[in-house]
Formats: sequence, C-alpha cells, structure tokens
Amino acid sequence: MKPLRIDPKTADLDDLIGRGILLHGHEGPFLVAGIRMGLLALDLLESPGYFGLAAECEAGTTPPLSCLADGIQVGSGCTVGKGNLRVTEANRPRVTFTDAGGRRLVVELRAEVWKTFRESDADKATALARQAPISRLFLWERTVAR
Ligand SMILES: [Zn+2]
Repeated sequence: MKPLRIDPKTADLDDLIGRGILLHGHEGPFLVAGIRMGLLALDLLESPGYFGLAAECEAGTTPPLSCLADGIQVGSGCTVGKGNLRVTEANRPRVTFTDAGGRRLVVELRAEVWKTFRESDADKATALARQAPISRLFLWERTVAR
C-alpha cells in the first residue's frame, strides 16, 4: 500500500487541527503548536512526512506541555507506533527532526510564546498558536549531522 504524504504547502491547518482534536481529545495551544512545528519540519526538510523522518520531542509526559507530541504526530506523521517519534523528559517545547540523509532541524517554541501559553486562557493561547506567523512562534536551526 502506498504511504500517505503530507504536503505542508497545501495542507489545511483547520483540517489538521480537527484531526488533532480527534486524536488528542481536546484543542489546545501546544497541540496546535505541535501541528505547525511538524508542518514546518516537512517544509524545511522537504519531507513527505510519515516515513523517512524521525522526531525527538522534549516536551515530556505532563500536560499541557506534553500535548505538543500529539501535534507533532498529526503535523509530521512521525508517530510513537512507527518508532519515529520519541518523547523525552526535558520538559521544554523543543523538537529535533532528523531525516534519512542526516539533515537535522531543531524547532523550539519561543520563550515569550511559551510564557503567553502559560499565562493566557486556553482559547486565547490556542488562537495565538493558530494565527501567529510561524517566525513569531518558533526559533529553528538546521544542521547536517556528521
Ligand atoms: Zn492536551
């Protein structure tokens, strides 16, 4: 069976958020941020998603921060079940994506956005995660693994 692809240039964010809510059970800023992080990774690494890409999510296992990992699953197609998503307990909203060619991308939620997520009510924070330009939400760095 032919694997699915996610095209970050044409993906409908509202549709992906809908899928994220079905997977995760509720909407929230970290879920939405994770979806957008995943799409950014596919865009910058020119990946079709799901396969040929691995993600290490440092957001741990305590909500709401850990909700980021489910967004990563929806936005990048890297999943726990395929073994290409690993979650570590660093408790920071940072994800490292690595592709089969050894290219690496580290994406982190900007500190001021994380603070806003913590301090705003959930609806406001989710709206920010949905609507803010990607460069306002995240910092990222691309490297080639040696
Ligand atoms: Zn959640």
